[in-house]
Amino acid sequence: MKINKILIANRGEIALRVIKTCKDLGIETVTLYALNDRELPHASAGDQNISLGSGSLAETYLNQERIIEIAKETGAQAIHPGYGFLSENTEFCKKVKAAGLIFIGPSVEAIELMGDKKTSKEKMEEIGVPLIPGYHGDDQSITVLKKEAEKIGFPVLIKATAGGGGKGMRIVDGASEFEDALASAKREAKNAFGNDQVLLEKYIVNPRHIEIQLVSDGKGNHFHFFERECSIQRRYQKVVEETPSVALDDELRANMCETAVKIASGINYLGAGTIELILAEDNSFYFLEMNTRLQVEHPVTEMVTGVDLVELQILAASGEAFDFEQSDITQTGHAIEVRIYAEDPDNEFLPTTGKIQQIEVDSEVSFRLDCGYRDGNSISTSYDPMLAKLITWEQDRDLAIESMQDALNSVVFGGTKTNRDYLKRILNHERFVDGDINTHFIAEESEELQKEELHPLHFCIVSLVAELDLTKHVWDSYYVPHIKRFEYEGREVEVLVLKAGSDGVEVKWGSDTQRYSVYSKENNRITLGYKGEVLSAYFYQVDQKGTLQVFIHDFEVKVRALPKVSVKSGVAAFGEGALQSPMPGKIFKIIQTKGKTVSKGQPVLILEAMKMEHTIKANKDGVIKELFFKEGDQVQGGVLLCEIE
Ligand code: ADP
Repeated sequence: MKINKILIANRGEIALRVIKTCKDLGIETVTLYALNDRELPHASAGDQNISLGSGSLAETYLNQERIIEIAKETGAQAIHPGYGFLSENTEFCKKVKAAGLIFIGPSVEAIELMGDKKTSKEKMEEIGVPLIPGYHGDDQSITVLKKEAEKIGFPVLIKATAGGGGKGMRIVDGASEFEDALASAKREAKNAFGNDQVLLEKYIVNPRHIEIQLVSDGKGNHFHFFERECSIQRRYQKVVEETPSVALDDELRANMCETAVKIASGINYLGAGTIELILAEDNSFYFLEMNTRLQVEHPVTEMVTGVDLVELQILAASGEAFDFEQSDITQTGHAIEVRIYAEDPDNEFLPTTGKIQQIEVDSEVSFRLDCGYRDGNSISTSYDPMLAKLITWEQDRDLAIESMQDALNSVVFGGTKTNRDYLKRILNHERFVDGDINTHFIAEESEELQKEELHPLHFCIVSLVAELDLTKHVWDSYYVPHIKRFEYEGREVEVLVLKAGSDGVEVKWGSDTQRYSVYSKENNRITLGYKGEVLSAYFYQVDQKGTLQVFIHDFEVKVRALPKVSVKSGVAAFGEGALQSPMPGKIFKIIQTKGKTVSKGQPVLILEAMKMEHTIKANKDGVIKELFFKEGDQVQGGVLLCEIE
């Protein structure tokens, strides 16, 4: 049946992704949105856009009855569930079919079979697919489970049969830990899935996660679209995905793909699905699970095979045959995807919320950005914190990595803390670059992936950017030299601004002096010149206190200019012989000249402030090294007036 109108029962980037293909195919779309999502791009991207009102997830995106009703009211013939939400929900799938609509996905039976780790393993055994040595029997008594664990040999992995997202999973290193781990896995499984049945698997040491993309057409033909390597995971969640995998040679690849197709045909599969495999160090591989939907990481497959997987899903759901052969599908080049999350890797990956002030994308760098947000959108804690997926494609892996590094530098989510810099550290990591990865990469390298200490240059530029924004008269020469105090990534620091004029800026931090020019400043963007390089800086105020989030070329920091410099802190920054102005005022008289010898207590200059004269006296015996102002100059409080050596 030809589908002319599709309702998309999802939100964000995946809703937009489906709409894109529908537009290409001339299919009309209906989108749904919860009221708090009404400003998001997907909420107005369809031909018809229907509100689900406000309320919990169950009342909005998971409101099965209402969604089906909307499909019928709008005349949609099919529902695309995206991923997550209702995509693997057999109850929903049944209701959709009962309403005479097409569910763009596999059969209820396939979802049911594969949604359970136990039944899927039983089926795999029947088909003759390699399984991880383990136990998935019905007997759940502690004694039997423990005996089975011992038989398998430690380390053993306990998994909830209804599991997903790493929930209800425990690694057990020895028999003595088994009972506690079992109890806690069962508790977690019961809570998350309402089912505490578990199975046991041999824990594969240092494995890679390799998955095979499948799509079966509407006439019972099964195709694979090669592998994706998803070994870069944090807490069992994928962070970086790529294809091809460096771990496979042609033979192993063919073997894995053949196994996947055998599974698809063994269960009479329909539509897109993914066979997840675990690859051991000795190159043996085992069935892990099958995902009966489109995956988040599907774009990398599209980039190297040139197919549109959503289009194939729609064709399959319409009952059509594909017009190609397996041998027509080849891998060209290399693609990498990273998931940009609204989270703070420097603060235990806590999800961040708030408003995305601006999404800044450098159009000169080539990449694919699948993003569900636009400027001004708020990030809600009710949904997944993934903001966007960034995908690069190049002729080979090294180039694709380089291209991803450029791409990450050129995408800025202003006003929102994301994992962008963390992703860059992964992409720059020697082991990643060498392809020496396994599922423990992030855990093993966590220390190295921690935030780097920044180069003084970065700090100096940040200080200036912050100042440019906050202080209107920064370019007036009377304002320098002065100390600028900052709260910088949680620390309090000071820099000495020696020069700030139209011809350039000079900043001293510790013993290091940096010079650079400011080419232009418009709105929240400043273009700087440094050692022949042109750097662009973006800054966003992220709170009421005036904290700025600053992006400069390849890094992001938070900085807040602190109001006034105390003389005490100034001395600490400038050194012993520094004389500062105690308050804002005018230089009334300069008594000493450069190079003159003075003794402690001798007057150096007179400052006029609040209609009173303040004599600034030498604070030590020495020679006048520098006088920074002339008579009549206006000065701010805390600025350096004179240095005695
Ligand atoms: P879930 O359905 O909860 O995501 P999976 O069975 O797909 O659980 O496993 C998630 C991840 O856990 C895998 O990608 C892999 O990194 C790791 N894993 C799963 N089974 C094993 C095993 N037997 N040995 C080692 N690691 C495993």
